[in-house]
Amino acid sequence: MKIAIIGGGIGGLTVALALHKAGFRPTVYESVGDIRALGVGINLLPHAVRVLSELGLQRDLAETGIATRELLYFNKFGQRIWQEDRGLDAGYPWPQYSILRGAAHYLLLEATTIRLGADCLKTAHHLARLEDTGDQVHLTFTGGREGKPVADVSADIVIGADGIHSEVRRHFYPDEGPPIWNGAILWRGVTESAPFMTGRSMFMAGHENQKFVCYPVSRAHLDSGRSLTNWVAERRVDPDAGFRREDWNRKANLDDFLPAFEDWRFDWLDIPQLISGAETVYEYPMVDRDPVARWTHGRVTLLGDAAHPMYPIGSNGASQAILDAESLAHALRDTQGPIEALSRYESARLEPTSEIVRSNRRNGPEQVMQIVEERAPDGFDDLSDVISQDELQAIADRYKRIAGFDKARLTAAASAADKQAEA
Ligand SMILES: Cc1cc2nc3c(=O)[nH]c(=O)nc-3n(C[C@H](O)[C@H](O)[C@H](O)COP(=O)(O)OP(=O)(O)OC[C@H]3O[C@@H](n4cnc5c(N)ncnc54)[C@H](O)[C@@H]3O)c2cc1C
Repeated sequence: MKIAIIGGGIGGLTVALALHKAGFRPTVYESVGDIRALGVGINLLPHAVRVLSELGLQRDLAETGIATRELLYFNKFGQRIWQEDRGLDAGYPWPQYSILRGAAHYLLLEATTIRLGADCLKTAHHLARLEDTGDQVHLTFTGGREGKPVADVSADIVIGADGIHSEVRRHFYPDEGPPIWNGAILWRGVTESAPFMTGRSMFMAGHENQKFVCYPVSRAHLDSGRSLTNWVAERRVDPDAGFRREDWNRKANLDDFLPAFEDWRFDWLDIPQLISGAETVYEYPMVDRDPVARWTHGRVTLLGDAAHPMYPIGSNGASQAILDAESLAHALRDTQGPIEALSRYESARLEPTSEIVRSNRRNGPEQVMQIVEERAPDGFDDLSDVISQDELQAIADRYKRIAGFDKARLTAAASAADKQAEA
């Protein structure tokens, strides 16, 4: 079966590896000519780490990223609202990793070219057109976004893993228009600093209109007593001002946001100093898209950000693309007809991911910071006067269930896998 994967990002390369493990030999078509290690930090949640471990990448991830120890939420004055252990430290069967997107992408790229062969990755192949004739799908590629036609290809199955501006999705939803902006801008950077808290802590401070997210991403730095610290400063601006087309690589000016964080000098971290230490700062609008009713149309389906672009809340963007990849590869392996397999994959993944998109619009697990801001805008003497531990716990637990990584479920999955391996 000829399988064409459109897009060689994290979702596209993971599905290539998962399909290879399931006995297929897909081809990945990537728009850019020279794949470089781009992006700042991402998080891989334990259920996504399970998938990558089963693809043999656990050791590389452990050597490269940070096995996140804990997650904390604070108000804008640096008063602690919530702490929970994460990954192995919380008793999960798999770690959570905080890692540079470029490093994770590189691991996947290396594994793909070694296992599938370099000829399975066609760079400078930008999908410009697709046509499903019923028996096959015809694809036309240009040499980059604006380039001349470089190839016409036919495939039995097409997987659109081409990100938030998916050409494959546009083919089926031509009137959808650009992504939807919620008025927030994310300024992102990476700064080398002294380690903070446990050296493996991730924290968020603030509320819905102004927030700071921060976590270390490099094992090598930790081992040498330093921290390569990923940070995201977020502010809501006038939504009528509009935004420029989202581009992960757009550089930003410190003057646009640093003054708003000038007072955020906490006991454990001086945030203005951290921001000022970054070599390059990028800006990105907080965008998503409405969930759609179908990803699969005949021989073509969607995966990752092409299928369910979501706000970067709750650390789910890359993790959900990785879960899609496993689900789709298993459906193609275990189902008789390829068209039925794509439908089966959609049934398994569309509703759970749509629920995450909707939950992230309500701030996902980070809503506790907004609740505390609304109830105690001037800070608090005793947190329990503002919000109870039960309420905090319930919000954290609910989001884990929605995003598919509650501990009971993952522990049960791990012991079922162990039993299967023993049998
Ligand atoms: C350059 C870049 C930097 C990023 N940085 C961050 C970050 O710092 N933090 C964060 O949380 N998330 C970041 N992301 C997004 C994050 O990687 C995704 O949300 C998540 O990993 C899901 O991945 P995906 O494979 O579905 O989409 P993506 O990672 O967006 O990958 C889509 C791929 O498809 C390719 N493509 C697009 N159109 C076509 C076409 N017509 N034909 C062929 N190929 C096409 C793109 O070049 C890209 O390689 C970044 C994405 C990119 C592309």
